Amino acid sequence: MSKVIVIGGGAAGMMAAYSAGMCGHKVSLLEKNEKLGKKIYITGKGRCNFTNACDIEDFFKNVVSNPKFLYSSLYTFGPDSMIDFIELHGTPTKVERGNRAFPVSDHASDITKALEKALREVNVDISLNTEVDSLVIDNGKVTGVTLKSNKTISCDHVIVATGGISYRTTGSTGDGHKWAKAAGLNVSDMRPALVPLNVKEAYIPSMQGLALKNVNLTIYDDKKKHYDSFGEMLFTHFGVSGPLVLSASSIIGKILQKRGSLKALVDLKPALSKEDLESRILRDFNDNMNKHLSSVLRGLLPSSMVPVFIELMDFDDERQINSVTKEERATLISLLKAFPFTITGLRDYNEAIVTQGGVSVKEIDPSTLKCKNIQGLSFVGEVLDLDAFTGGFNLQIAWSTGYLAGLSI
Ligand SMILES: Cc1cc2nc3c(=O)[nH]c(=O)nc-3n(C[C@H](O)[C@H](O)[C@H](O)COP(=O)(O)OP(=O)(O)OC[C@H]3O[C@@H](n4cnc5c(N)ncnc54)[C@H](O)[C@@H]3O)c2cc1C
Repeated sequence: MSKVIVIGGGAAGMMAAYSAGMCGHKVSLLEKNEKLGKKIYITGKGRCNFTNACDIEDFFKNVVSNPKFLYSSLYTFGPDSMIDFIELHGTPTKVERGNRAFPVSDHASDITKALEKALREVNVDISLNTEVDSLVIDNGKVTGVTLKSNKTISCDHVIVATGGISYRTTGSTGDGHKWAKAAGLNVSDMRPALVPLNVKEAYIPSMQGLALKNVNLTIYDDKKKHYDSFGEMLFTHFGVSGPLVLSASSIIGKILQKRGSLKALVDLKPALSKEDLESRILRDFNDNMNKHLSSVLRGLLPSSMVPVFIELMDFDDERQINSVTKEERATLISLLKAFPFTITGLRDYNEAIVTQGGVSVKEIDPSTLKCKNIQGLSFVGEVLDLDAFTGGFNLQIAWSTGYLAGLSI
Protein backbone atom coordinates (compact mmCIF):
# COMPACT_ATOMS: atom_id res chain seq x y z
CA MET A 1 0.00 0.00 0.00
CA SER A 2 1.41 3.42 -1.00
CA LYS A 3 0.77 6.93 0.16
CA VAL A 4 -0.51 8.80 -2.89
CA ILE A 5 -1.10 12.53 -3.41
CA VAL A 6 -3.30 13.64 -6.29
CA ILE A 7 -2.93 17.34 -7.17
CA GLY A 8 -6.08 18.85 -8.71
CA GLY A 9 -9.68 17.92 -8.00
CA GLY A 10 -10.95 18.24 -11.57
CA ALA A 11 -12.19 15.39 -13.74
CA ALA A 12 -8.83 13.63 -14.12
CA GLY A 13 -7.74 14.10 -10.51
CA MET A 14 -11.01 12.89 -8.99
CA MET A 15 -10.93 9.76 -11.14
CA ALA A 16 -7.24 9.10 -10.40
CA ALA A 17 -7.89 9.49 -6.67
CA TYR A 18 -10.85 7.10 -6.91
CA SER A 19 -8.99 4.36 -8.74
CA ALA A 20 -5.91 4.62 -6.50
CA GLY A 21 -8.24 4.47 -3.47
CA MET A 22 -10.07 1.51 -4.97
CA CYS A 23 -6.72 -0.32 -5.13
CA GLY A 24 -6.26 0.20 -1.40
CA HIS A 25 -3.75 3.05 -1.43
CA LYS A 26 -3.91 5.85 1.11
CA VAL A 27 -4.95 8.76 -1.09
CA SER A 28 -5.01 12.53 -0.45
CA LEU A 29 -6.67 14.73 -3.07
CA LEU A 30 -5.48 18.35 -2.91
CA GLU A 31 -7.57 21.04 -4.60
CA LYS A 32 -6.88 24.75 -4.46
CA ASN A 33 -10.50 25.79 -5.06
CA GLU A 34 -13.23 25.81 -2.45
CA LYS A 35 -14.92 22.89 -4.20
CA LEU A 36 -14.14 19.94 -6.46
CA GLY A 37 -14.73 19.97 -10.22
CA LYS A 38 -15.19 23.70 -10.72
CA LYS A 39 -14.70 23.35 -14.49
CA ILE A 40 -17.17 20.45 -14.68
CA TYR A 41 -19.96 22.83 -13.61
CA ILE A 42 -19.57 24.88 -16.78
CA THR A 43 -19.12 21.98 -19.21
CA GLY A 44 -21.75 21.26 -21.83
CA LYS A 45 -23.40 24.65 -21.08
CA GLY A 46 -24.01 23.48 -17.50
CA ARG A 47 -25.30 20.05 -18.58
CA CYS A 48 -21.90 18.28 -18.72
CA ASN A 49 -21.48 16.24 -21.86
CA PHE A 50 -19.38 13.82 -19.78
CA THR A 51 -18.47 11.31 -22.49
CA ASN A 52 -19.25 10.12 -26.00
CA ALA A 53 -20.84 6.71 -26.30
CA CYS A 54 -19.19 5.87 -29.63
CA ASP A 55 -17.06 2.85 -30.54
CA ILE A 56 -13.53 3.17 -29.27
CA GLU A 57 -12.14 3.22 -32.81
CA ASP A 58 -14.41 6.20 -33.62
CA PHE A 59 -13.24 7.82 -30.42
CA PHE A 60 -9.65 7.90 -31.65
CA LYS A 61 -10.76 9.70 -34.83
CA ASN A 62 -12.01 12.54 -32.61
CA VAL A 63 -8.73 12.97 -30.75
CA VAL A 64 -6.68 15.77 -32.33
CA SER A 65 -3.32 15.42 -30.53
CA ASN A 66 -1.64 12.08 -29.83
CA PRO A 67 -4.54 9.63 -30.19
CA LYS A 68 -2.23 6.59 -30.06
CA PHE A 69 -1.04 7.55 -26.60
CA LEU A 70 -4.59 6.91 -25.38
CA TYR A 71 -4.95 3.26 -26.44
CA SER A 72 -4.26 1.69 -23.02
CA SER A 73 -6.26 4.34 -21.14
CA LEU A 74 -9.33 4.03 -23.34
CA TYR A 75 -9.27 0.25 -23.59
CA THR A 76 -8.92 0.04 -19.78
CA PHE A 77 -11.64 2.56 -18.96
CA GLY A 78 -13.62 3.77 -21.98
CA PRO A 79 -16.93 5.58 -22.46
CA ASP A 80 -19.03 2.49 -21.53
CA SER A 81 -17.13 2.09 -18.26
CA MET A 82 -17.67 5.78 -17.51
CA ILE A 83 -21.40 5.61 -18.15
CA ASP A 84 -21.66 2.54 -15.87
CA PHE A 85 -19.55 4.31 -13.25
CA ILE A 86 -21.79 7.39 -13.19
CA GLU A 87 -24.98 5.30 -13.09
CA LEU A 88 -23.60 3.07 -10.31
CA HIS A 89 -22.91 6.17 -8.25
CA GLY A 90 -26.46 7.38 -8.33
CA THR A 91 -26.70 9.61 -11.43
CA PRO A 92 -28.89 8.30 -14.29
CA THR A 93 -27.54 9.17 -17.74
CA LYS A 94 -28.85 9.60 -21.27
CA VAL A 95 -27.30 9.63 -24.74
CA GLU A 96 -28.28 12.34 -27.22
CA ARG A 97 -27.56 13.15 -30.87
CA GLY A 98 -24.00 12.39 -31.90
CA ASN A 99 -23.61 9.85 -29.03
CA ARG A 100 -23.19 12.69 -26.54
CA ALA A 101 -23.81 11.46 -22.98
CA PHE A 102 -25.32 13.70 -20.27
CA PRO A 103 -26.86 13.23 -16.84
CA VAL A 104 -30.66 12.77 -17.22
CA SER A 105 -31.13 15.75 -14.89
CA ASP A 106 -29.18 18.03 -17.30
CA HIS A 107 -27.25 19.21 -14.24
CA ALA A 108 -23.46 19.04 -14.45
CA SER A 109 -23.39 19.07 -10.64
CA ASP A 110 -24.82 15.52 -10.69
CA ILE A 111 -21.66 14.28 -12.39
CA THR A 112 -19.51 15.82 -9.66
CA LYS A 113 -21.86 14.38 -7.02
CA ALA A 114 -21.36 10.87 -8.45
CA LEU A 115 -17.59 11.35 -8.32
CA GLU A 116 -17.75 12.67 -4.76
CA LYS A 117 -19.80 9.65 -3.71
CA ALA A 118 -17.20 7.34 -5.29
CA LEU A 119 -14.36 9.18 -3.51
CA ARG A 120 -16.11 8.71 -0.14
CA GLU A 121 -16.61 4.99 -0.84
CA VAL A 122 -12.86 4.42 -1.17
CA ASN A 123 -11.95 6.79 1.69
CA VAL A 124 -10.05 9.42 -0.27
CA ASP A 125 -8.97 12.24 2.01
CA ILE A 126 -10.03 15.51 0.34
CA SER A 127 -8.35 18.85 1.16
CA LEU A 128 -10.01 21.89 -0.41
CA ASN A 129 -8.49 25.40 -0.44
CA THR A 130 -5.13 23.65 -0.58
CA GLU A 131 -2.75 24.94 -3.21
CA VAL A 132 0.38 23.01 -4.07
CA ASP A 133 3.42 25.18 -4.70
CA SER A 134 5.96 22.62 -5.92
CA LEU A 135 6.97 18.99 -6.12
CA VAL A 136 9.75 17.66 -3.89
CA ILE A 137 12.09 15.59 -6.05
CA ASP A 138 15.15 13.90 -4.62
CA ASN A 139 17.59 11.90 -6.75
CA GLY A 140 15.12 11.37 -9.56
CA LYS A 141 12.31 10.35 -7.23
CA VAL A 142 9.31 12.34 -5.99
CA THR A 143 9.15 12.29 -2.20
CA GLY A 144 6.32 14.76 -1.59
CA VAL A 145 4.80 18.15 -2.31
CA THR A 146 5.18 21.59 -0.78
CA LEU A 147 2.03 23.63 -0.27
CA LYS A 148 1.68 27.40 -0.76
CA SER A 149 1.42 27.52 3.04
CA ASN A 150 5.03 26.20 3.11
CA LYS A 151 4.01 22.89 4.63
CA THR A 152 5.63 19.84 3.02
CA ILE A 153 3.69 16.56 2.82
CA SER A 154 5.63 13.41 2.06
CA CYS A 155 4.30 10.55 -0.04
CA ASP A 156 5.36 7.65 -2.26
CA HIS A 157 3.63 8.82 -5.43
CA VAL A 158 2.24 12.06 -6.87
CA ILE A 159 -0.34 12.26 -9.65
CA VAL A 160 -0.43 15.71 -11.30
CA ALA A 161 -3.93 16.54 -12.58
CA THR A 162 -3.78 20.33 -12.72
CA GLY A 163 -5.45 20.73 -16.14
CA GLY A 164 -4.57 23.04 -19.04
CA ILE A 165 -4.54 26.86 -19.06
CA SER A 166 -7.96 27.73 -20.46
CA TYR A 167 -10.72 29.30 -18.32
CA ARG A 168 -8.18 30.13 -15.59
CA THR A 169 -10.92 31.16 -13.17
CA THR A 170 -11.78 27.47 -12.80
CA GLY A 171 -8.31 26.88 -11.32
CA SER A 172 -6.38 25.65 -14.37
CA THR A 173 -3.45 28.04 -14.29
CA GLY A 174 -0.64 25.91 -15.68
CA ASP A 175 1.06 24.91 -12.40
CA GLY A 176 1.61 21.34 -13.63
CA HIS A 177 3.43 22.61 -16.72
CA LYS A 178 5.67 24.76 -14.53
CA TRP A 179 6.58 21.79 -12.30
CA ALA A 180 7.20 19.58 -15.33
CA LYS A 181 9.60 22.15 -16.81
CA ALA A 182 11.35 22.58 -13.46
CA ALA A 183 11.83 18.80 -13.35
CA GLY A 184 13.46 18.91 -16.79
CA LEU A 185 10.49 17.44 -18.68
CA ASN A 186 9.61 18.60 -22.15
CA VAL A 187 6.43 20.70 -22.39
CA SER A 188 5.24 21.25 -25.96
CA ASP A 189 4.08 24.69 -27.11
CA MET A 190 0.57 25.51 -25.93
CA ARG A 191 -2.24 27.36 -27.67
CA PRO A 192 -5.98 27.83 -27.19
CA ALA A 193 -8.08 25.18 -28.99
CA LEU A 194 -11.82 24.70 -29.61
CA VAL A 195 -11.79 28.47 -29.67
CA PRO A 196 -13.43 31.15 -31.88
CA LEU A 197 -11.35 32.90 -34.54
CA ASN A 198 -10.60 36.58 -35.23
CA VAL A 199 -11.29 37.82 -38.75
CA LYS A 200 -9.84 40.82 -40.61
CA GLU A 201 -12.72 42.03 -42.83
CA ALA A 202 -15.07 44.67 -41.39
CA TYR A 203 -18.09 43.14 -43.13
CA ILE A 204 -17.96 40.07 -40.86
CA PRO A 205 -19.01 41.87 -37.62
CA SER A 206 -21.82 43.56 -39.57
CA MET A 207 -23.44 40.09 -39.67
CA GLN A 208 -22.92 39.45 -35.95
CA GLY A 209 -25.47 36.98 -34.54
CA LEU A 210 -26.07 35.28 -37.88
CA ALA A 211 -25.84 31.47 -37.66
CA LEU A 212 -25.33 29.50 -40.88
CA LYS A 213 -26.40 25.86 -40.96
CA ASN A 214 -25.26 23.25 -43.49
CA VAL A 215 -22.38 25.22 -44.95
CA ASN A 216 -18.92 24.07 -46.00
CA LEU A 217 -15.86 25.81 -44.58
CA THR A 218 -12.46 25.61 -46.24
CA ILE A 219 -9.31 27.11 -44.72
CA TYR A 220 -6.12 27.37 -46.75
CA ASP A 221 -2.95 29.26 -47.53
CA ASP A 222 -0.99 29.67 -50.74
CA LYS A 223 0.51 26.21 -50.26
CA LYS A 224 -2.35 23.93 -49.24
CA LYS A 225 -5.81 23.34 -47.83
CA HIS A 226 -5.69 22.92 -44.05
CA TYR A 227 -9.34 22.34 -43.23
CA ASP A 228 -12.45 21.39 -45.17
CA SER A 229 -15.64 20.44 -43.37
CA PHE A 230 -19.39 20.80 -43.28
CA GLY A 231 -21.61 22.07 -40.44
CA GLU A 232 -22.77 25.12 -38.55
CA MET A 233 -20.99 28.44 -37.99
CA LEU A 234 -21.72 31.80 -36.45
CA PHE A 235 -20.64 35.40 -37.15
CA THR A 236 -19.65 37.46 -34.12
CA HIS A 237 -18.45 40.97 -33.31
CA PHE A 238 -14.82 39.84 -33.70
CA GLY A 239 -15.03 37.10 -36.33
CA VAL A 240 -16.42 33.58 -36.44
CA SER A 241 -17.48 30.90 -33.99
CA GLY A 242 -19.86 27.91 -33.86
CA PRO A 243 -19.17 24.14 -33.98
CA LEU A 244 -17.49 24.12 -37.41
CA VAL A 245 -15.15 26.96 -36.45
CA LEU A 246 -14.28 25.51 -33.04
CA SER A 247 -13.25 22.21 -34.66
CA ALA A 248 -11.30 24.13 -37.30
CA SER A 249 -9.38 26.02 -34.61
CA SER A 250 -7.98 22.76 -33.23
CA ILE A 251 -6.70 21.74 -36.64
CA ILE A 252 -5.34 25.08 -37.92
CA GLY A 253 -4.14 26.65 -34.62
CA LYS A 254 -0.50 25.75 -35.03
CA ILE A 255 -0.19 26.79 -38.69
CA LEU A 256 -2.22 29.97 -38.03
CA GLN A 257 0.21 31.01 -35.31
CA LYS A 258 3.13 30.31 -37.63
CA ARG A 259 1.73 32.13 -40.66
CA GLY A 260 -0.14 34.97 -38.93
CA SER A 261 -3.21 34.65 -41.14
CA LEU A 262 -5.09 32.13 -43.29
CA LYS A 263 -7.73 32.45 -45.99
CA ALA A 264 -11.22 31.01 -45.53
CA LEU A 265 -14.08 30.32 -47.93
CA VAL A 266 -17.64 29.38 -47.07
CA ASP A 267 -19.73 27.46 -49.56
CA LEU A 268 -23.19 28.79 -48.70
CA LYS A 269 -24.91 26.37 -51.11
CA PRO A 270 -22.93 23.13 -50.84
CA ALA A 271 -25.84 21.03 -52.14
CA LEU A 272 -25.93 22.94 -55.47
CA SER A 273 -23.31 22.82 -58.22
CA LYS A 274 -22.31 26.13 -59.87
CA GLU A 275 -24.43 25.15 -62.89
CA ASP A 276 -27.53 24.39 -60.77
CA LEU A 277 -27.05 27.64 -58.93
CA GLU A 278 -26.70 29.58 -62.18
CA SER A 279 -30.00 28.10 -63.52
CA ARG A 280 -31.75 28.95 -60.27
CA ILE A 281 -30.45 32.54 -60.33
CA LEU A 282 -31.38 32.99 -64.00
CA ARG A 283 -34.90 31.80 -63.16
CA ASP A 284 -35.14 34.20 -60.21
CA PHE A 285 -33.79 37.07 -62.32
CA ASN A 286 -36.21 36.37 -65.19
CA ASP A 287 -39.14 36.41 -62.76
CA ASN A 288 -38.03 39.74 -61.22
CA MET A 289 -36.54 41.77 -64.09
CA ASN A 290 -37.69 45.16 -62.79
CA LYS A 291 -36.80 44.64 -59.14
CA HIS A 292 -33.64 45.54 -57.25
CA LEU A 293 -30.93 42.92 -56.79
CA SER A 294 -31.33 43.04 -53.00
CA SER A 295 -34.92 41.84 -53.20
CA VAL A 296 -33.86 38.76 -55.19
CA LEU A 297 -30.87 38.13 -52.90
CA ARG A 298 -33.27 38.02 -49.94
CA GLY A 299 -34.66 34.79 -51.44
CA LEU A 300 -31.17 33.31 -51.60
CA LEU A 301 -29.49 34.58 -48.45
CA PRO A 302 -30.12 35.48 -44.80
CA SER A 303 -31.11 39.17 -44.76
CA SER A 304 -27.98 40.38 -42.89
CA MET A 305 -25.80 38.95 -45.68
CA VAL A 306 -27.60 40.86 -48.44
CA PRO A 307 -25.89 44.27 -47.95
CA VAL A 308 -22.54 42.48 -47.64
CA PHE A 309 -23.08 40.77 -50.99
CA ILE A 310 -24.09 44.06 -52.63
CA GLU A 311 -20.92 45.65 -51.24
CA LEU A 312 -18.62 42.79 -52.31
CA MET A 313 -20.18 42.77 -55.78
CA ASP A 314 -19.56 46.50 -55.92
CA PHE A 315 -23.13 46.81 -57.19
CA ASP A 316 -25.32 49.91 -57.18
CA ASP A 317 -28.58 48.63 -55.73
CA GLU A 318 -30.50 51.45 -57.43
CA ARG A 319 -30.01 49.45 -60.62
CA GLN A 320 -32.60 46.87 -61.61
CA ILE A 321 -32.07 43.16 -62.20
CA ASN A 322 -32.39 43.63 -65.96
CA SER A 323 -29.09 45.56 -65.89
CA VAL A 324 -27.06 42.80 -64.15
CA THR A 325 -24.26 41.73 -66.47
CA LYS A 326 -23.03 38.20 -67.06
CA GLU A 327 -19.81 39.04 -65.16
CA GLU A 328 -21.80 40.36 -62.20
CA ARG A 329 -23.85 37.17 -62.19
CA ALA A 330 -20.63 35.15 -62.19
CA THR A 331 -19.34 37.18 -59.23
CA LEU A 332 -22.57 36.51 -57.37
CA ILE A 333 -22.30 32.76 -57.98
CA SER A 334 -18.69 32.72 -56.94
CA LEU A 335 -19.55 34.58 -53.69
CA LEU A 336 -22.31 32.07 -52.95
CA LYS A 337 -19.97 29.12 -53.52
CA ALA A 338 -16.88 30.73 -51.96
CA PHE A 339 -17.70 33.56 -49.55
CA PRO A 340 -14.27 34.85 -48.47
CA PHE A 341 -12.68 36.14 -45.29
CA THR A 342 -9.25 36.20 -43.65
CA ILE A 343 -8.55 34.53 -40.31
CA THR A 344 -6.06 36.57 -38.32
CA GLY A 345 -5.80 34.69 -35.05
CA LEU A 346 -7.19 32.49 -32.31
CA ARG A 347 -9.24 34.10 -29.53
CA ASP A 348 -7.55 33.76 -26.16
CA TYR A 349 -7.56 31.11 -23.45
CA ASN A 350 -10.55 32.65 -21.66
CA GLU A 351 -12.68 31.56 -24.61
CA ALA A 352 -10.94 28.24 -25.31
CA ILE A 353 -12.64 25.01 -24.33
CA VAL A 354 -9.30 23.23 -24.19
CA THR A 355 -5.56 23.82 -24.29
CA GLN A 356 -3.59 22.25 -27.09
CA GLY A 357 -0.05 21.20 -26.14
CA GLY A 358 1.25 20.52 -22.65
CA VAL A 359 3.50 17.97 -20.95
CA SER A 360 4.95 15.92 -23.81
CA VAL A 361 3.49 12.43 -24.02
CA LYS A 362 7.01 11.24 -24.90
CA GLU A 363 7.89 11.76 -21.23
CA ILE A 364 5.08 9.43 -20.09
CA ASP A 365 4.53 5.67 -20.30
CA PRO A 366 1.09 5.35 -21.94
CA SER A 367 0.33 2.05 -20.21
CA THR A 368 0.73 3.53 -16.68
CA LEU A 369 0.76 7.36 -17.09
CA LYS A 370 3.98 7.32 -15.08
CA CYS A 371 6.79 9.65 -15.95
CA LYS A 372 9.58 7.66 -17.63
CA ASN A 373 12.51 9.45 -15.98
CA ILE A 374 11.20 10.51 -12.58
CA GLN A 375 10.08 7.84 -10.17
CA GLY A 376 6.82 8.22 -8.27
CA LEU A 377 5.30 10.81 -10.64
CA SER A 378 2.33 10.57 -13.04
CA PHE A 379 0.52 13.15 -15.20
CA VAL A 380 -3.14 12.83 -16.21
CA GLY A 381 -5.81 14.80 -18.08
CA GLU A 382 -5.47 18.09 -19.89
CA VAL A 383 -2.06 18.95 -18.42
CA LEU A 384 -0.76 16.43 -20.99
CA ASP A 385 -0.40 17.20 -24.70
CA LEU A 386 -3.81 15.66 -25.46
CA ASP A 387 -6.93 17.31 -26.89
CA ALA A 388 -9.98 16.26 -28.86
CA PHE A 389 -13.00 17.68 -30.65
CA THR A 390 -16.20 18.61 -28.80
CA GLY A 391 -18.70 15.84 -27.99
CA GLY A 392 -17.58 14.54 -24.57
CA PHE A 393 -14.16 13.39 -25.79
CA ASN A 394 -12.08 15.75 -23.67
CA LEU A 395 -13.68 14.77 -20.39
CA GLN A 396 -13.36 11.09 -21.33
CA ILE A 397 -9.63 11.63 -21.86
CA ALA A 398 -9.50 12.99 -18.30
CA TRP A 399 -11.50 10.04 -16.85
CA SER A 400 -9.54 7.38 -18.79
CA THR A 401 -6.05 8.68 -18.07
CA GLY A 402 -6.99 9.35 -14.44
CA TYR A 403 -8.37 5.87 -13.95
CA LEU A 404 -5.36 4.09 -15.48
CA ALA A 405 -2.89 6.21 -13.50
CA GLY A 406 -4.55 5.34 -10.17
CA LEU A 407 -4.73 1.68 -11.12
CA SER A 408 -1.07 1.59 -12.12
CA ILE A 409 0.48 2.67 -8.82
C1 LIG B 1 -16.66 26.13 -21.09
C2 LIG B 1 -16.15 24.71 -21.21
C3 LIG B 1 -17.03 23.72 -21.57
C4 LIG B 1 -16.58 22.40 -21.73
N1 LIG B 1 -17.49 21.44 -22.03
C5 LIG B 1 -17.06 20.15 -22.16
C6 LIG B 1 -17.99 19.11 -22.40
O1 LIG B 1 -19.21 19.31 -22.39
N2 LIG B 1 -17.50 17.86 -22.59
C7 LIG B 1 -16.15 17.58 -22.53
O2 LIG B 1 -15.75 16.42 -22.72
N3 LIG B 1 -15.24 18.54 -22.23
C8 LIG B 1 -15.68 19.80 -22.04
N4 LIG B 1 -14.76 20.79 -21.72
C9 LIG B 1 -13.34 20.41 -21.53
C10 LIG B 1 -13.14 19.71 -20.17
O3 LIG B 1 -13.83 20.44 -19.17
C11 LIG B 1 -11.67 19.59 -19.78
O4 LIG B 1 -10.97 18.98 -20.83
C12 LIG B 1 -11.50 18.78 -18.50
O5 LIG B 1 -12.20 19.39 -17.43
C13 LIG B 1 -10.04 18.62 -18.11
O6 LIG B 1 -10.00 17.97 -16.87
P1 LIG B 1 -8.69 18.01 -15.95
O7 LIG B 1 -9.06 17.30 -14.70
O8 LIG B 1 -7.51 17.54 -16.71
O9 LIG B 1 -8.44 19.55 -15.66
P2 LIG B 1 -9.36 20.63 -14.87
O10 LIG B 1 -10.77 20.29 -14.99
O11 LIG B 1 -8.89 21.94 -15.36
O12 LIG B 1 -8.95 20.43 -13.35
C14 LIG B 1 -7.71 20.85 -12.83
C15 LIG B 1 -7.89 21.08 -11.36
O13 LIG B 1 -6.61 21.25 -10.75
C16 LIG B 1 -6.70 22.27 -9.78
N5 LIG B 1 -5.35 22.83 -9.57
C17 LIG B 1 -4.59 23.46 -10.48
N6 LIG B 1 -3.43 23.85 -9.93
C18 LIG B 1 -3.44 23.44 -8.63
C19 LIG B 1 -2.53 23.56 -7.54
N7 LIG B 1 -1.35 24.19 -7.67
N8 LIG B 1 -2.88 23.02 -6.35
C20 LIG B 1 -4.08 22.39 -6.17
N9 LIG B 1 -5.00 22.29 -7.18
C21 LIG B 1 -4.67 22.79 -8.39
C22 LIG B 1 -7.66 23.26 -10.39
O14 LIG B 1 -8.21 24.14 -9.43
C23 LIG B 1 -8.68 22.34 -11.04
O15 LIG B 1 -9.73 22.02 -10.17
C24 LIG B 1 -15.20 22.10 -21.51
C25 LIG B 1 -14.32 23.11 -21.12
C26 LIG B 1 -14.79 24.40 -20.97
C27 LIG B 1 -13.82 25.46 -20.51
